[in-house]
Amino acid sequence: MKKVFFVPAKVREKGLLDGLERAIALSCPQIAKGEAAAIKIHFGEYGNTRYIRPTFVRKVAEEVAKMGGEPFVTDTTALYRGKRDSLFSALSTAASHGFTCETMGCPVLIADGIRSSGYEVTLQNPLRLPKVKVASLIFEADFLIVLSHFTFHPLVIPAASIKNVGMGCVTKESKLAMHSGSKIRFNEKKCLFCKACVMICPVGALKVKDKKIEYDEKACIGCGECISECEEEAISVPWEKKVPSDVQAGILDAFKATLSTYGKNKALFINICLDITEHCDCFGKADIPVIPDIGILVSDDALACDKASFDLTKSLPEYPGSDWDKKKKGEERSISVALSEADSFFELAKESGIGDLNYELMNIL
Ligand code: SF4
Ligand code: SF4
Repeated sequence: MKKVFFVPAKVREKGLLDGLERAIALSCPQIAKGEAAAIKIHFGEYGNTRYIRPTFVRKVAEEVAKMGGEPFVTDTTALYRGKRDSLFSALSTAASHGFTCETMGCPVLIADGIRSSGYEVTLQNPLRLPKVKVASLIFEADFLIVLSHFTFHPLVIPAASIKNVGMGCVTKESKLAMHSGSKIRFNEKKCLFCKACVMICPVGALKVKDKKIEYDEKACIGCGECISECEEEAISVPWEKKVPSDVQAGILDAFKATLSTYGKNKALFINICLDITEHCDCFGKADIPVIPDIGILVSDDALACDKASFDLTKSLPEYPGSDWDKKKKGEERSISVALSEADSFFELAKESGIGDLNYELMNIL
C-alpha cells in the first residue's frame, strides 16, 4: 500500500505552501548533497492561463535546496508547432508565464536542448516501444521531481504524473513514435517551398526534386524536427493513425524507460489539483475548471498519486457554467474525455509494473 500525502485545497490553519512543504518532508525524498534534481513541470502553451502557478514550483526548488540538492526547473520542447516547439520559444513562453531563473531561484532549462537530444534506453518486454530516447537533462539528473498540473486529456486520463513523465521527459523522436508510429504527414498543397525542412532533416528524407519537396517515408526516422520547422503547417503529426490505447501504451513505455535511469527512491510525484480543466496545458487557451479545486497530492509512486487524485474528482460536483455542468442526466461528464476509460488505463499501468493502485490517503491539515 503506497502512501499518498494529501493537502486539501480548503485552507485551515495553514496555507497550501506550508502543506506542500510538509508533504514533501513526510515523503522523505532521498536527495543527497550536491545531487542535481530535475523539477519537471509543464510551462503551459502560450495563451493558456491555468497552468501550474510559479509559486508552487519555487517552493519545491527551495525545499530541494534546503536538502542540499541542486534544483533546476525543466520541460521539453513540444512536438507540434506552437510557442514551445524549440528551446528558444519554450524559454520565451516559460518567462512570459513566470518561470525564470530569477523567479524560481534556480536554473530554468530545456531538457532536450536545441536539437531535441536524448539518450536511448532499451526496454525489456515493452507494451509498444522497445526503445525510448530520454531527454538529455532528465537522463543526466540524479533525482526527478515530477510536478504536474492535474487536468483531463482526451487520450490519457488523467493528465498528471504519468503523462508528465511519459510524454514530457522524452525527445521529439519518441513523442512522435508514441503518437503516430514514427512518421509525419506531408501536405504538398500547403508547401511554399521554403526548404527549411530540407535543411533540418538529418537523414535526407525531405528532398528537393523538380522544384518541389519530396518526402521519403521509408528514409524518415521520425525525429519530428521538421514539424516545428514548417511555418506553413505543411508537415504535421498524423494524430488519427493511433488509437488512445496505443498512445497510452507508448506513454507507459516511456515512463518506464525514464524511471529506469534513476536509482531506487530517486523520484517524487506531486499533483497540483487546482484549476482542473477538461484539456491539458498543451492547449493555447484555458476554459473555466470543470470541477472545484481538490488540493495537492504527493507520493513516491506515480500511479498511486494519479489514481488517488482521479478518485478524489469522482465525488465532486460539476463547476457551475462549465462544459461538464451542461451535461444531461445520465450522460458521461465530458464530451471529449471518455472518463469511463480511466480504469483501463490505470489497470494497464499496473500491469506494466510502473506502480501501485493501492494507496493510503494521508491527510495533511
Ligand atoms: S518547411 Fe514546410 S513550407 Fe518549407 S519547404 Fe518544407 S514543407 Fe514546404
Ligand atoms: S521526422 Fe525527422 S527524419 Fe522524418 S522527415 Fe522530418 S526531419 Fe526528416
